[in-house]
Amino acid sequence: MKLLSVIIPCYNEEENVPYFYAEMLKQEAVLKERDIALELIYVDDGSKDRTVEEIKKLHERDGRVHMVSFSRNFGKEAGIYAGLRKAAGDYVVLMDADLQDPPSLLPEMLRYLEEEGYDSVATRRVTRKGEPVIRSFFARRFYALMQRISQTEFVDGARDYRLMKRPVVDAILSMTEYNRFTKGIFGWVGFRTKWLEYENIERVKGETKWNFWKLFLYSLDGILAFSTMPLAFVSVIGLIFCVLAFVLIVFTIVRTVIFGDPTSGWPSLVCIIALISGVQLLCLGIVGQYLSKMYMEVKNRPIYLVKEEL
Ligand code: UDP
Ligand code: MG
Repeated sequence: MKLLSVIIPCYNEEENVPYFYAEMLKQEAVLKERDIALELIYVDDGSKDRTVEEIKKLHERDGRVHMVSFSRNFGKEAGIYAGLRKAAGDYVVLMDADLQDPPSLLPEMLRYLEEEGYDSVATRRVTRKGEPVIRSFFARRFYALMQRISQTEFVDGARDYRLMKRPVVDAILSMTEYNRFTKGIFGWVGFRTKWLEYENIERVKGETKWNFWKLFLYSLDGILAFSTMPLAFVSVIGLIFCVLAFVLIVFTIVRTVIFGDPTSGWPSLVCIIALISGVQLLCLGIVGQYLSKMYMEVKNRPIYLVKEEL
């Protein structure tokens, strides 16, 4: 008999914890048919509401429900990592607590894994219904950009809803980096992946933890973690300005020799100084971003801290 571990990162999801459990159990018959046992791993990401109590209630009723509870909010990426470490299953699936990742897709996902020889089954949403227009626009731009500047595969609309075989899980666990951009990590490890598409589903209860600014910073994390293109960009800018400066020098010398040298050009000088110092600060900033990521990586702090485990 095989074991399927379901990992559910939860941050302030008191209403969704029992609801998710009920929805998940509806898939039990299908799992039995395939001779697969189930375990549920709720990862409480330092929730401030009654999420932990709700999980404990489930744990008392059903021994297959496990919990890892963090000492504070470490973010969903850390939650996923903790869940993967705790999972004992031959198959592991990641799901959101808000049922935006429909458990009803599981039978189909399992079929691809068991009958078609895929190593993992990933999902992407093909619509962004119910999402602010500006957010969708920038999300699309982000994926288009990543496709160009990163060697790792980034799929537009990819969700974290993913079913994996043990080797894939172990590969992900072997990546112990501190800056965990999970969407990139999945692409980076490779393996044979089947993509399933579905329409966006809005969360059942509670509200999303993301706003535009958080998403923007998150996208920067993604770029820094999976591309060094900005650094190459900085070098190119430096080169362009060197060439430009050389042309200007030649131009100035020739002009002085041919036309004499009236002392003018103060405004243009100020413009040039302002422009170039701006470019320099920008480049320094880009380098600094990588340095700060390196700094956090070198510190080697744990990705999460556990307060309680069931
Ligand atoms: N989540 C988490 N830690 C956080 C933020 C979110 O564990 O700091 C969980 C959250 O409880 C949910 C999942 O990650 O199960 C997705 O979060 P959300 O629904 O807010 O994101 P969205 O679906 O809007 O992208
Ligand atoms: Mg959600």
